Amino acid sequence: MRFTSVFFLLILILVFPASNLYSQNLDYAKSIVNTLASEDYMGRGYTKKADLKAANFIKDEFRRYGIQPINSEYFRYFNLDVNTFPGKMEISLNGQKLRPGIDYLTDPSSPSLKGSFEVIRIRRQDLNKPDVLSEILMATAGKALMIDMNDTVKFSPSESEKISKLVDAIKYDPELKNPLTIILSDKKLTWGISGRQAKKVVVTLHSGELNPDDISFIEVDIKARLQRNYKTQNVIGIIPGKTVPDSFLVVTAHYDHLGIMGKETCFTGANDNASGIAMLLNLAKYFAENPPKYTLVLIALSAEELGLLGAASISNDPGLETGKIRFLVNFDMAGTGEEGIMVVNATVFKEEFERLQQLNSTESLLPSVRSRGEACISDHCIFYMKKVPCFYIYTLGGITAYHDIFDRAETLPLSAFDNYLKLMISFFETF
Ligand SMILES: [Zn+2]
Repeated sequence: MRFTSVFFLLILILVFPASNLYSQNLDYAKSIVNTLASEDYMGRGYTKKADLKAANFIKDEFRRYGIQPINSEYFRYFNLDVNTFPGKMEISLNGQKLRPGIDYLTDPSSPSLKGSFEVIRIRRQDLNKPDVLSEILMATAGKALMIDMNDTVKFSPSESEKISKLVDAIKYDPELKNPLTIILSDKKLTWGISGRQAKKVVVTLHSGELNPDDISFIEVDIKARLQRNYKTQNVIGIIPGKTVPDSFLVVTAHYDHLGIMGKETCFTGANDNASGIAMLLNLAKYFAENPPKYTLVLIALSAEELGLLGAASISNDPGLETGKIRFLVNFDMAGTGEEGIMVVNATVFKEEFERLQQLNSTESLLPSVRSRGEACISDHCIFYMKKVPCFYIYTLGGITAYHDIFDRAETLPLSAFDNYLKLMISFFETF
């Protein structure tokens, strides 16, 4: 064997096990995202018990790694109200069928509606002219009211805010006898999920190539179903600590997303938050083989998108004593990282943040570890309000898809996932 061959063999032996280990982690993360964000999981909403299907998948992974349940149960149940769109979702303009999720979104709180309606248009800038407003509104009984948000007039910020409030009031105003309000806008379409059902349908129409003067008729066929007292579940598992089992390190990530908007349109939620579950399960797998000093509690939360309901429920669970939590990290949107990560509560828990930054620079893992103050924008907030020391971390850069039909497994880069995972393992090991 020549020297170069020996040299390369040596390099292979030294480098391959580590890179192989991490590519295995990345492969595992990809398989989790591909599964949970596939159309079979129906956007992990509440139609056909898609939430339960996702919870079962996570439970089976916990079992596979020997993660233990608390009081012999992985599931913690709670109830919620949710408006769903399990069936038809069809909208046509002047006889032309629109593409759901691309041309329009139906407001998450909309009820069922079927019919053909004449469209009455009102410009956003006319909303502050009382005479124009009352005249048009009087004429909308039984018709579709379309508010054209594309301004030709510039307003001051205060006027603009006043008009926005007026739009919100008009949208659902029960005094107005229009069964349908259309918001015509050139802004990005961003969907949500609602725990209630409103009295009338609101549709946001992407203006795109549309000429508002041409919109005279709209035909809708929408099937909505309000599910009251729906039973969903958080999934919780533990890895007992080696030396301080009575104190906890906690990992949270929500597994729910927005579900479907009619049976043909799925919001798969790859980045939000199949990616966070991929992080949670990778940490579960690693720490099952390398038990930490403190007990590691892994919680896959439901109903984050409905207002942090899963976190609120589990934070009151007698099986989880929040006073014993040494530190909690919430992962929500973990699928990019081209520009590093953002750490919510970094300015509150400075010592832990400095430690995280230090690890990152010593091990040269991510391009940046950025600091943000407190922000009640994901599940960590519920625990933070209960005085639990915590971070919420999300990745920066990469794709911009968010709460839309483009947040899909096939376009989720997971480009920094290996290094992000490595950093978080190191961070948890400093406790
Ligand atoms: Zn999320």
